[in-house]
Amino acid sequence: MTSDVFSELDLDGAVLTGTGATAFAAADFGGIVNQPPLAVLRAGSIADITTTLPIAATNGIPVVSRGRGHTSLGQAQVRDGLVVDLTALDEVHEITGDRVTVDAGTTWNSLLARTLQHGLTPRVLTDYLGTSVGGTLSVGGIGGTSHRYGVQTDNVLSLDVVTADGLLRHCSPAELPDLFYGVLGGFGQCGIIVRATVPLMTAPERVRRVKVYYPTVEKLIAGQRSLLADGRFDFLQGEILPADDWVYMLDVASYYTSPHEPDMDRLLLKTGFEASRDKVEDLSYWEFATRLDETVTYLEGTGEWHAPHPWPNLLLPDAEIDSFADEILDGLQRTDLGASGLILIYPMTTEAFGTPLFRLPEASTVYLVAGLRFATEATAEDMVAGNRRWYDSAVSRGGTSYPTGAIPFTSADWTRHLGAAKVTLAAAKQLYDPQNLFPRRFA
Ligand SMILES: Cc1cc2nc3c(=O)[nH]c(=O)nc-3n(C[C@H](O)[C@H](O)[C@H](O)COP(=O)(O)OP(=O)(O)OC[C@H]3O[C@@H](n4cnc5c(N)ncnc54)[C@H](O)[C@@H]3O)c2cc1C
Repeated sequence: MTSDVFSELDLDGAVLTGTGATAFAAADFGGIVNQPPLAVLRAGSIADITTTLPIAATNGIPVVSRGRGHTSLGQAQVRDGLVVDLTALDEVHEITGDRVTVDAGTTWNSLLARTLQHGLTPRVLTDYLGTSVGGTLSVGGIGGTSHRYGVQTDNVLSLDVVTADGLLRHCSPAELPDLFYGVLGGFGQCGIIVRATVPLMTAPERVRRVKVYYPTVEKLIAGQRSLLADGRFDFLQGEILPADDWVYMLDVASYYTSPHEPDMDRLLLKTGFEASRDKVEDLSYWEFATRLDETVTYLEGTGEWHAPHPWPNLLLPDAEIDSFADEILDGLQRTDLGASGLILIYPMTTEAFGTPLFRLPEASTVYLVAGLRFATEATAEDMVAGNRRWYDSAVSRGGTSYPTGAIPFTSADWTRHLGAAKVTLAAAKQLYDPQNLFPRRFA
C-alpha cells in the first residue's frame, strides 16, 4: 500500500509523507518505541477527517489519532498506517455559564487560559498542561483534584466523534452512550474525538500551596490518608524525591479568592508542618496550574526532557499501598529513576469515578503510584523491565495500570485489565468500528 491513495484529496490541512515529514509521528514522549507511519493527516478541519477515513478504510490502512504524543510506549503510533494529527484543531468555541466546547487538539494550557478570562476552570487539570484535550480524554486524566471530581473523563458532557465510516456523531451519556463510553478512556479504538464539551466551575483567584517533608513513606501515606478523610485541601498529591536518601513530600493546596483567606492554623493542624523545614507558597491559580513549566525548562536544559521516559503509572488499593511502597523502595537506586526522577504517590476516593474504561482497583480509596523515570544512566530497557516487576506486584495486590505509560502488556494482561469493561469496548467496537480501522490497543 502506498500513500498515493491520499494524494488527490482537497483538504484544509495536508497529508504528509516521507520519513522526514512524518518522523514526529513515529515517535513519542517515551522515546522507547518508534513506528514509522505510511502518512500523517495534519487535519485542518473536521471535514478533512471525515473525507480521509473512508479512503483509509477502503484501502485497509489502519488509523491512529495523535494529540501531542505524550504517551510513553507507542500508544499514538501506527506502523505503516495513517496517523491523524489533531494539533491544528485547536479552537476554543463557546464558553457559556458552566461549560466550554473545545476542539480536541487544543492543549489544556490554551483552554485554561481562555476559561480563566471568564473566571472559570475545568474541575480536573493534569499536572502538565501541554497535553491535548482529546489525548487526555482518550486515556483518563488524573490530577490533584481527582480525589473530589474523579478523572477528566468523568467530567465530560458530550463529545463529537468521527467513527470509522467517516460519519461525525454527537454522543453523551444520553445520546449514543456506547460510543461515548467507548471513546472516553478508549485510546482511540472506537473513533476520533474532534470536539468535547466540558463542565466548568468558578476558578479561585489564588492558591495556598503547602509542602511538608516526612522522614518515612509510612508517615507520608498516613498524613495523606487523614487529609483525604477530612477533605480540608482542594488539591492533594505527594512525591518521593531523591536526596541524600529519599525524601517524602506531601504536596497540598487550598484554593481561595480574596477576601476569603485560608485559615492556615486549621489547614496545617496535625500535618507535622515545621516552618524551618517545610514550605508555604502563595500563587495565582494560573501560576499554580502551570507550575511544571519551570521544571520543563530545566529538563530541556539538562537534556532529560528529550531522553527516554519509561514511566509506569499504577493504581493500588489503599489496603496495599504501605507494603507496595516498601517493596518498590527496597533497594531502589537513584539511577533507577534518573537524575531528576521521582515517584508520584497520592490517594483518591473513587466515589466520583465512573468511566468504564478507566480501570480502578476494587477499593473506595486508591493510590496513584507513577514512576517518573529518565533513562539517563540506566537503560530504558532495564527501566521497562523494572516497570513490569512493579506492575506484576501491583496486580498481585489487586492493583491496575493507568496505561499511558511504559509497561508492556500481553493480551492476557489486557483481558485482566479490562475486566467487566471488555463488554463496553466490544459493544462500541462492533457498532462503530467492526473492521478494526482503529487498531485494537487492548488486544
Ligand atoms: C510531562 C507529563 C506529565 C503528565 N502528567 C499527567 C498527569 O498529571 N495526569 C495524567 O492523567 N496524565 C499525565 N500525563 C500523561 C498524559 O496525560 C497522557 O499521556 C495523555 O494521553 C497525553 O495527551 P496527548 O495529547 O499527548 O495524547 P497522545 O499521546 O497523542 O495520545 C494518547 C492516546 O489517545 C489517543 N488519542 C489522542 N487524541 C485522540 C483523539 N482526539 N481521539 C481519539 N483518540 C485520541 C492516541 O491514539 C493514544 O492512544 C503526563 C504526561 C507527560 C509527558
